[in-house]
Amino acid sequence: MPAISPKKPYRVGRSRTGLGLFATKPIKKGTKIVRYFGPLLDSRKKKDDAIENKYLFELNNRWTIDGSVRKNIARYINHACKPNAESDVNPRKRKVVIRAIKNIEPGEEINYDYGTDYFKAYLKPIGCKCDACEKKRKKQRAEARAERLRLKARAERKALKKAEKEAAKAEKKLAKHKLNGKAKHANGKPMNGHGGKAVADTVTGAKSGIFARARGKPAQESRASA
Ligand SMILES: [Zn+2]
Repeated sequence: MPAISPKKPYRVGRSRTGLGLFATKPIKKGTKIVRYFGPLLDSRKKKDDAIENKYLFELNNRWTIDGSVRKNIARYINHACKPNAESDVNPRKRKVVIRAIKNIEPGEEINYDYGTDYFKAYLKPIGCKCDACEKKRKKQRAEARAERLRLKARAERKALKKAEKEAAKAEKKLAKHKLNGKAKHANGKPMNGHGGKAVADTVTGAKSGIFARARGKPAQESRASA
């Protein structure tokens, strides 16, 4: 990492997308933070025009700053869609300064909007990872999750209702069945005579009958023989 004077209100540190520039002291809105600098490239020169990297800062049709040099600390500043700084371009002087557009607190990452061309070329294809876009994605994910839960709850309510309906139907059927069974019993009662008690009576009756027959046999025989 590059050496930065401790007098400066920033340091290079880890950010969501790699490295970034972070405030180490409060930075007041409107303050110049750091200059974006590097060799000037002239689009009229074939050699200059052939240079391609992510740190090219176009000043106008002719002049571009090649900010890929290590000494250019401003190159560590990441893009944000809702930034706390801006690039202040002076094409006549061919100078770019990064300036705070909000009060920046120590620890906060410094960022500025790289502009539509850069966004379209480099960020849109991979998805912008700035706070605003992450927040937006988080919100969208939460909304999608809530929608899924809503649909699930609705499906569960529907299934419960259906199950309740079916249970009620089954209960009704069972009640009807029971009622039919009771009716049969009721019909059978007079046929059995005394119902359950009648069975016991029949058993004892049969037993007593056997005894009676056993006891009565000789009598009968004797009666027959008599
Ligand atoms: Zn963004």
